[in-house]
Amino acid sequence: MHLAFVRSRSQAGLAAPDITVEVHLGSGLPGFQVVGVSESTTRQIRGRVRSAILSSHLKWPDFNITINLAPTEQPKEGARYDLPIALGLLVASKQLPEQSIEKREFFGELGLDGAIHPFRGCLAAALAATQAGHECGIALAGASEMATLTAGRLIAAPDLLSLCARLRAPDPEYVPGVSSLGTDIPSYPDLSQLKGQPLLRMALEVAAAGGHHLLMTGPPGVGKTMAASVLPGLLPPMPKKTAQELRLLQDVAGVTQCSAPPFRAPHHSSSVASLMGGTARALPGEISMAHGGVLLLDELSEFPYAVLNQLRQPLETGHIRVNRAQCQHLYPAQFQLVAAMNPCPCGLAGDPDSRCRCTPDQVRRYRQGISGPLMDRIDLHITLHRPSPEFLLIKSSPNASYSSDLKHRVGLLQNHQTERQGCLNRELAGDALLKACQLKSSTERWLINAASKLSLSARSTHRRLRVARTLADMAESEVVAVPHLKTALSFREASFTDDVSAF
Ligand SMILES: [Zn+2]
Repeated sequence: MHLAFVRSRSQAGLAAPDITVEVHLGSGLPGFQVVGVSESTTRQIRGRVRSAILSSHLKWPDFNITINLAPTEQPKEGARYDLPIALGLLVASKQLPEQSIEKREFFGELGLDGAIHPFRGCLAAALAATQAGHECGIALAGASEMATLTAGRLIAAPDLLSLCARLRAPDPEYVPGVSSLGTDIPSYPDLSQLKGQPLLRMALEVAAAGGHHLLMTGPPGVGKTMAASVLPGLLPPMPKKTAQELRLLQDVAGVTQCSAPPFRAPHHSSSVASLMGGTARALPGEISMAHGGVLLLDELSEFPYAVLNQLRQPLETGHIRVNRAQCQHLYPAQFQLVAAMNPCPCGLAGDPDSRCRCTPDQVRRYRQGISGPLMDRIDLHITLHRPSPEFLLIKSSPNASYSSDLKHRVGLLQNHQTERQGCLNRELAGDALLKACQLKSSTERWLINAASKLSLSARSTHRRLRVARTLADMAESEVVAVPHLKTALSFREASFTDDVSAF
């Protein structure tokens, strides 16, 4: 019987559901059809696979060829099934023994010369295949890194002919893993670069320690963007699961692999799809590419309302659902949000020289563009002013590495939070927040009094409590006391109060 079944995988978000490539060689006039695929796509597949087989000095079967990709509801885009289709044709035409594809899955695009190329999302497919207990046949390019990341048995070859030879061998050679992955480690600016901004430095330390989202309001040139780019350098190495998810996301998006917490700063003119995910190929968006790291939204008020409103779901759940016509993709998006905005349209409100000419109505409209529920999820709101000119002339020591010293401490603090409550302080809510804070009755009374004097809403009070919990952690106190609450409440004040400096 001229029939062959070859295993492969499609892509749905970071998942890789299995696909069986069924190849049937029938009698009748020679022909080629792929079930459920348009004529033009079928012609492209035939062109690539036929050229690859002939260039590899193998025989193109002169039969009425029918190919089915089962289950049929999976999307069948791109060239990702070239390799399994070619191998199916070779097995069905007895050019390759059936045993050579047993308990194996195949991932690769074919060049016209028979070369095997990896595709976006290959890593997720190889990982799923390994978890299913199967070996994988893949392209040689990037195979060592993939072997390290999947810990699977991978058979790699540069082209179709070499792969066939390796598959026929009774003891195929598996790709060895590498001891260390060669990745680009990004370098972030050191904390010492922020001069004359003690409030900003303090806020960054608190944001890093408790994982809090941060909103900075201040005139242009006070170091908001610089501060945001310092933050990923303060974050400890990502947990293993997050690091693996980030690798898979980077592989699906086709960007350079990196194991350090990422820093993404999309422009406010970016489209909703490029930010949230779901371009024509349902690729992950900027918020997913910031998974495990920092997402900076500079000029927050310039972002379309629809974008800011959609941020609520990922901020709450840590993932984003991207809907396409045929499928729904789920991408992780657990990032630390850093937002920056000017105090008014001209950016000079609150300036000591009071050069701002914006009307109160203009300022109100400018700030109203930001959705309230989004603001509720940002624990730390700070207002910045221009530093005195003398601060800018202070030279920082050339070997200063405040960031790396602090990073170690942040790692210890975050571990402590996870041990105590199973999450970072940022994620505390309701009873879990009150339990973690262990407020004494006198502290509770003080907080109720302060909240009513400042007309704080319940959500707003909880935001300050979460920050106070982190401040207490930084002071190695298991109980949140009045000084921690005072500091948490003072963060939003326009000036750098004594309470903060005393901490
Ligand atoms: Zn103004």
